[in-house]
Amino acid sequence: AAPLVPFASATADQATVHIDLGERSYPIRIAAGLLGDAATYAALPKAASALIVTNTTVAPLYLQQVRAALAGRYPQVHVVELPDGEAYKDWQTLNLIFDALLQHGCDRKTVLFALGGGVIGDMTGFAAASYMRGVPFVQLPTTLLSQVDSSVGGKTAINHPLGKNMVGAFYQPQLVVCDLASLDSLPPRELSAGLAEVIKYGPIADMAFFEWLELHIDRLRAGDRTAMAQAVKRSVEIKAWVVSQDEKETGLRAVLNFGHTFGHAIEAGMGYGNWLHGEGVGAGMVMAAHLSQELGMVDAAFVARLTRLIERAGLPTRGAVLDAQDNAGAYLEHMRVDKKAEAGEIRFVLIDGPGKATMRGAPDALVRQVIDRCCAP
Ligand code: NAD
Ligand code: MG
Repeated sequence: AAPLVPFASATADQATVHIDLGERSYPIRIAAGLLGDAATYAALPKAASALIVTNTTVAPLYLQQVRAALAGRYPQVHVVELPDGEAYKDWQTLNLIFDALLQHGCDRKTVLFALGGGVIGDMTGFAAASYMRGVPFVQLPTTLLSQVDSSVGGKTAINHPLGKNMVGAFYQPQLVVCDLASLDSLPPRELSAGLAEVIKYGPIADMAFFEWLELHIDRLRAGDRTAMAQAVKRSVEIKAWVVSQDEKETGLRAVLNFGHTFGHAIEAGMGYGNWLHGEGVGAGMVMAAHLSQELGMVDAAFVARLTRLIERAGLPTRGAVLDAQDNAGAYLEHMRVDKKAEAGEIRFVLIDGPGKATMRGAPDALVRQVIDRCCAP
């Protein structure tokens, strides 16, 4: 595989990153003002109709401009507005997309547009993968998390009552449009949650980017457009580079889940919606860094540096207490049902020297020690 292009700190307010997957390759466009610009959609396949999938929060903010920009290209532009929230990433709500497609007589060429955060992106992608055995779709991510993570790479899914993202497909979009202007309306807590996924890329792949983040984290939290362009572009470059080498997560791609094993345990243990995904990942990265240190792979200075950056991003750095009696036991139980677990053995993404990730198991006793240390009030 080609090496990751070096991190260039030059200003980038307009960029395109290509994800290279042979026939399934596609561009990721990053700039302010793309959503409402008809030129953004000029290279998409022609069709008689398009369906915009969005939710009740995002529709009042961005639907009109997207609909107007698509009107010249698609004779019919339909819309389905879903209720907002992770709780609706389920079968019943997914069916509303199929209902709309069928009621409007949409065919195999109909293009689906996912306008919203990761929930809308994951559901629309899965609907596109299965409607008439596959129709084209476009990601229009409007949260920082979805721009730097979920919209890129082709993982689509819905949740099952017994587990998150348990029903889905690998299905690549035709195009990803990251409109930086859409981040202006994002609540600060959601912005911080997105920063967790941005920060993640440093320890696993690029310490030069990590250093840049240490310098610019305050500008990012303030929504500085130029800094944001750079952060989104670099995150997407790293994700595209990893995914290009391992589209279906048979190996390397799992490093993108740094912080997620502990994070998922927090999310699940606290009840979905109490901690945002990115908040779980924030605390989870601290816990995974401690475990890496226990295993002799990084030093205390690295753990402190990472913890500090996560804190400055407005994220929790300590795990939640899931069970007052046996907290570590509660974490272990949740982590054993993780998709990365193999035959009940938990596989952690750990940092094997700053800038490089590795996957491995760890003795329960050691994991318990780390949980106890990281979750004490
Ligand atoms: P989300 O989609 O729930 O969006 C967060 C909130 O922000 C929602 O209330 C949403 O309506 C609102 N919102 C969206 N855009 C807005 C805007 N511009 N201004 C104001 N509010 C806006 O959550 P998310 O963090 O974007 O995504 C989380 C989801 O992504 C999870 O379901 C997770 O499983 C999934 N995910 C998928 C992948 C993948 O590879 N497919 C990767 C990471 C996460
Ligand atoms: Mg994530």
